[in-house]
Amino acid sequence: MFIGSMNPCPCGNYGDHRLECRYSPNQITCYRNKLSGPLMDRLDLHVEVPAIKYEQLDGKEEGEPSAEIRSRVEAARSRQRGRYKNIAAATNIRLRSKYFKQYCSLSINLCGEKF
Ligand SMILES: [Zn+2]
Repeated sequence: MFIGSMNPCPCGNYGDHRLECRYSPNQITCYRNKLSGPLMDRLDLHVEVPAIKYEQLDGKEEGEPSAEIRSRVEAARSRQRGRYKNIAAATNIRLRSKYFKQYCSLSINLCGEKF
């Protein structure tokens, strides 16, 4: 697995709600185009992560209660048990390769095209 990150622009401020980017759209495009097409083609997932305020990191702001998170996890586990009720797998990682097409087929590809 490969995980990487990069700034949205050369100064790192593009998209930040507090700071102003010093670069033009063309300069930002040139900066982003430094990553080769073949490399970008091998990255399956691109996630934009906006800057957050310090107050969100300092631990004073209440997060989601563990009980709520646990409830979501239990609901997901329950769905998985129902999904795999006829085979010996409880989670995706336990799914044997012979079941991939049956349980993991995609109806659209990453470009939004339907199969
Ligand atoms: Zn910038």
